[in-house]
Amino acid sequence: MSKRKIRLAWNSDYCRHCFGCTAMCQRGALTVDHEYGTLRYDIRLCIRCGSCVRACPTGAMYAEEEPLSDHP
Ligand code: SF4
Ligand code: SF4
Repeated sequence: MSKRKIRLAWNSDYCRHCFGCTAMCQRGALTVDHEYGTLRYDIRLCIRCGSCVRACPTGAMYAEEEPLSDHP
């Protein structure tokens, strides 16, 4: 049986722009977009460690399972 994959999701309604999630990302996958004052996410750098999810105080950053149809 294959493992379910997790992907990040973000709900802007709950985001306080504290940027705690970017501070926790050791891969540079989540950074601050200073021009727009929001988050920038590079999926190519993300290792899905979940540190940003655990760092988020509001639940704005969360993990969800990818649909099985997205699996290779
Ligand atoms: S899951 Fe890990 S690598 Fe991916 S954005 Fe969050 S902290 Fe960075
Ligand atoms: S830690 Fe949560 S509330 Fe703070 S910037 Fe990241 S997503 Fe938004």
